[in-house]
Amino acid sequence: MKKAQALNIYIGSVTFAGACLLIVHLAQFHWGSKGLAELALLTLFTVLAELTPLQIRHGEEATHVILSITFSFAVLLSLGALAAILAQGLASAVDDARRGKPLWKIGFNIGQHILWISAASGVLRLFAGTFSLSIPVHLSVEGLGVIALAGLAYFVVNYVSIATAVALSEEIGIVTHFRRSGKDLLFQGSIDTLLIALAPIVAVATSNSLLLLPLIALPLAAVHKAAKVSLENAGLVETLKVKAEENAYQATHDSLTGLPNRTLFHDRLQQAVLGVARSGAAVAVMLMDLDRFKEINDALGHQTGDLVLQEMSHRLSGIVREGDTIARLGGDEFALVVTSLDDVSAVQVVANRILHAFDDPFMINGMALHIGASLGIAIHPEQGTSPDVLIQRADVAMYVAKNNRTGYEYYSPDSDYHSPARLALVDELRAAINERALTLHYQPKVDFGTEGAVGVEALARWDHPRRGAISPVEFIELAEQSGLINPLTFYVLDRALEQMKNWLAKGLDLTVSVNLSLQSLLDLQLPAMVEDMLKKWEVPPAHLILEITESCMMSDPTRTMAILNTLNDMGVRLSIDDFGTGYSSLSYLKRLPVSELKIDKSFVMDMLADESNAVIVRSTIDLGKNLGLRVVAEGVASDAIYSTLVQLGCSLAQGFHISRPIPADEIETWLKTSHWGESSKPAPLALVR
Ligand code: C2E
Ligand code: CA
Ligand code: CA
Repeated sequence: MKKAQALNIYIGSVTFAGACLLIVHLAQFHWGSKGLAELALLTLFTVLAELTPLQIRHGEEATHVILSITFSFAVLLSLGALAAILAQGLASAVDDARRGKPLWKIGFNIGQHILWISAASGVLRLFAGTFSLSIPVHLSVEGLGVIALAGLAYFVVNYVSIATAVALSEEIGIVTHFRRSGKDLLFQGSIDTLLIALAPIVAVATSNSLLLLPLIALPLAAVHKAAKVSLENAGLVETLKVKAEENAYQATHDSLTGLPNRTLFHDRLQQAVLGVARSGAAVAVMLMDLDRFKEINDALGHQTGDLVLQEMSHRLSGIVREGDTIARLGGDEFALVVTSLDDVSAVQVVANRILHAFDDPFMINGMALHIGASLGIAIHPEQGTSPDVLIQRADVAMYVAKNNRTGYEYYSPDSDYHSPARLALVDELRAAINERALTLHYQPKVDFGTEGAVGVEALARWDHPRRGAISPVEFIELAEQSGLINPLTFYVLDRALEQMKNWLAKGLDLTVSVNLSLQSLLDLQLPAMVEDMLKKWEVPPAHLILEITESCMMSDPTRTMAILNTLNDMGVRLSIDDFGTGYSSLSYLKRLPVSELKIDKSFVMDMLADESNAVIVRSTIDLGKNLGLRVVAEGVASDAIYSTLVQLGCSLAQGFHISRPIPADEIETWLKTSHWGESSKPAPLALVR
């Protein structure tokens, strides 16, 4: 037999049984002394209760509780089965009709009600003679027990009939349905117990005085209200929950890229480290920093920078495996946790894949931006076991990769600023500055036109007592990282101006160039300090040139512009060093009070072998001319380069072909002996504005 057929037969049977029972009840009916008003009022309440179900929360969802049972059961107790059928049947029919249910369904529902009313009334009748059940006055304790039993009969019949219908319509076995709805059974049972328990109270009250019925309705209305409020609160709680989840997301993710942030990264790393402790596999922490991102941001605007970061995170997300985490720690710094590495060489594969993600230029607003990145790698457990140490060591490695332009580097204690060896070196550098143990070498700059030396660049030298000469690239970086760069700059300025005073006294009309680091350029004390120093050594400001790099100026354009203007107003000349290696906006360049551009030596040294470098050199010379700037070519290492630059119209040359950086006394000898020195003539360098 088909299930649908079974359902139809079931519905028919219930309706039919209801009709038969109704006939039985009608046959047994005798009105007696029962009040019509009582019936009318209770029926009215039954209908009203049926029409206004109570909405309550059951687990995750809202459900309906229909209170009509309290009143129809009360009718059953005080007026008998037929009256109860009338009240409950009418209520059910009105509600069903209101909902537009078909006739057969209305009939079935009434049939169901007749079934339970008959069952409950059967129980009541069975014991009516034995226990006093006469309402209102003689309701005994046993009588209440019988009422409870009648309530149970209601519950069983009602539940079984509904469950059967549901099981048949959902085409599952009745047993399966009962098993599934076990929890509901308990819930429904507890609700029905409460509703039935109220029935005798209603019955007793109404048979005493009809006026009491509205009094009972009042607390029920209050229950209605409370349920509504609680449901609304539940809704509010739901909203708050969603809000809290949103907040939690925001607290752990970067809003620009949607990637996990530093907090979440730390958590994930912690988990990975704990996981490894169990599995024994390796974990790699990678820190990545975009090369020259700040300059792009400053030159092309933050919006462009944001687009780069978004595109960037998109590319990176496509690379990492599931289970690995990629996070944005802030700015242009990204971090990765790479887990479940079978062997450490797999890290290299990942690192290369990441760097390859930068091969294609970033197409932003029609511009093709070539951006590189530097990666620092620290491996757990070899290079640290706690997340903090691993992150810090990956950071150290990243700086090494950035400085050496190697793409990626593994952590090594030698380059670790925090390592004992490096800390000792910082102490030694501090001592060398304080004890004036650093020396200066000077490298001449010659004029292409007159072939005479016009100035020198002061370059710091550190002859370490044990390690020998340490490259300025290395100790300048060390000074920048350890807060020693300002003392170092002041020291170099002091020595260079002292030397300049000396040369001026000897009638050598030169300029001296001193290099400034970013931090010096951000130091608001710098102009006053330079002024004091010029006074101290009685050197006219026009004999001092300060060299700054493009990236220095672009890191905080407003602040550096103010400082540069003050210096220019004092009469000190400014020069842009390593030109071509950074991004600077042309409009910014035009407004800068600089007098000189120095083409980076990497382009000059390679210009004969590499056409693209030659193009850069040529266009920088043109750019300088157009902006009214003197152009210096650094790295003039051969006569061939020198001759080419003469033809291109470059202003000054500096490089090993002319002279290496040499001590001050050797400069004096060089000026007297070399052919550059013989024709030495001061070339005036105009102040800006
Ligand atoms: P820089 O300012 O670009 O200085 C020019 C560097 O290029 C010098 O290296 C110089 O020796 C080198 N050079 C010049 N001509 C040639 C050439 O024809 N071929 C080759 N291969 N190299 C040439 P040095 O003295 O090693 O200085 C390196 C860097 O250290 C400087 O680059 C500068 O950035 C920094 N530095 C040196 N002294 C100071 C200082 O007192 N303060 C600051 N802030 N930085 C300094
Ligand atoms: Ca320089
Ligand atoms: Ca340079």
